[in-house]
Amino acid sequence: MPDGSGQTLLTQLESFLPHERITTNSYALERLSRDQTHVLEPGIPLAAVFPISSEETSRIVQAASQHRIPIVARGEGSGLAGGANAIDGCLVMCFSRMNRIIEINARDGVAVVEPGVINADLRRKAAEQGLFYAPDPSSFEISSIGGNIATNAGGLRCAKYGVTREAVLGLQVVLADGKTLQIGRRSIKGVAGYDLTALFVGSEGTLGLITQATVRLRPAPNEAGTVLAQFKTLEAAGDAVGQILAAGLVPSVLEIMDQTTLMAVEEWRHMGIEQTVRAALVAQTDSGSSHDLAAIEEVCGDAGAVETHRSTDILESELLIEARRWAFSALERKGATLLEDVAVPRSRLVELIAAIEKIAAEAHVTIGTFGHAADGNLHPTVVWDRGDDAGRRRALGAAQAIMETTLRLGGTLTGEHGVGILKRDALEKELGPDVVRLSRSIKEVFDPDGILNPGKILAVD
Ligand SMILES: Cc1cc2nc3c(=O)[nH]c(=O)nc-3n(C[C@H](O)[C@H](O)[C@H](O)COP(=O)(O)OP(=O)(O)OC[C@H]3O[C@@H](n4cnc5c(N)ncnc54)[C@H](O)[C@@H]3O)c2cc1C
Repeated sequence: MPDGSGQTLLTQLESFLPHERITTNSYALERLSRDQTHVLEPGIPLAAVFPISSEETSRIVQAASQHRIPIVARGEGSGLAGGANAIDGCLVMCFSRMNRIIEINARDGVAVVEPGVINADLRRKAAEQGLFYAPDPSSFEISSIGGNIATNAGGLRCAKYGVTREAVLGLQVVLADGKTLQIGRRSIKGVAGYDLTALFVGSEGTLGLITQATVRLRPAPNEAGTVLAQFKTLEAAGDAVGQILAAGLVPSVLEIMDQTTLMAVEEWRHMGIEQTVRAALVAQTDSGSSHDLAAIEEVCGDAGAVETHRSTDILESELLIEARRWAFSALERKGATLLEDVAVPRSRLVELIAAIEKIAAEAHVTIGTFGHAADGNLHPTVVWDRGDDAGRRRALGAAQAIMETTLRLGGTLTGEHGVGILKRDALEKELGPDVVRLSRSIKEVFDPDGILNPGKILAVD
């Protein structure tokens, strides 16, 4: 039962929202209260609402702020840090119905979209006009642009095109008091004032609600060709990464998978990967130059690849990339999982991979490691038997050890998934107390009553 202010807010919301856009149904709320971070238990929300415009979002926020009811923004709930997890008594603001692509403008090289647009839908729509929306998290078919911006999502093509932040020019945001603000710009360049757009990108729903975005589109790249290189040692694969980048080659994708991951994919998809293979690289270039692809294959051979396979066939290239996209799902089939998201300077990649193997052996857990090698961003995925509490504890210990090692190597606790709740308590170890204090002050400026996704990124005092 909602308390007095919760009940008053519900009555107020029901006075202007049609019944199909507000729910207190416990089954619906259970589904809308969690993201894909299975190790975290979400709270129980008061209700979920589905605004269809920025004006409506603003009205809902004004009402919630009057009663100091917390608001948790939700895109598609594919997050991996608990960012969209409900907190007790909150209002879940679901943006799935704000899914219009308002404009695609080839001349300006921009798209204007609502936050609930699915990444893949924008990509397809842009492609119809020979344009390209670069940010491509592996979840591109199941995640929203609003969620991608709020987490500053990465993806496979970051190797060449950078993370989501590189593609965001301007935002419309609803602040904690319901005021709507336009920040950023539509022009490709622009440096007027503090870069509030960059601040909002990756703010995980803690500073304001994104109700519209102006994003950059590029000319569609050439069809990508792909190299799959298999190695007998992880070190050789890591060396190949270093040599490819040192040679000035610019792959659009450069992914690494360890043996545990490869075998999980093989068991599931039967791609003919030998058990003796310890690591594989999947590289793509979309430069249109067959020389670049051949050069990547040659570097891999020189670094000790036991087998390489090069393809410019579109379907085959897609299949090779799919093998990498299946990595997490293949590991998930083997048990409960905790997906890590650490990143180190590229020169420390091999050390990190070796350390993860050692941690797995010492903690007696299975860890499948894959990730975006060109960015030094790995997703060591700890797997344990479902229902095995001791296994779960060992997994959490191993994840902790991976984070500590990453920091020791000069890296970061999250390369692309965000802090959410999962990394919140470790954040200060990376940033230090002064930066955390400054971050709190920034949060207070935007959200003095602390109603926007409280307890995410920063703990509530
Ligand atoms: C199989 C799989 C593969 C994945 N691969 C990748 C990958 O390659 N790279 C990567 O970076 N991530 C990846 N992810 C994680 C996830 O897909 C991304 O974090 C994604 O950006 C989340 O989008 P979403 O729409 O699901 O957002 P949600 O999970 O719903 O929300 C994420 C965060 O954004 C906030 N938020 C959502 N919408 C808004 C809004 N309109 N305004 C303000 N705040 C908002 C939420 O409060 C929350 O803090 C993967 C996840 C899965 C399950």
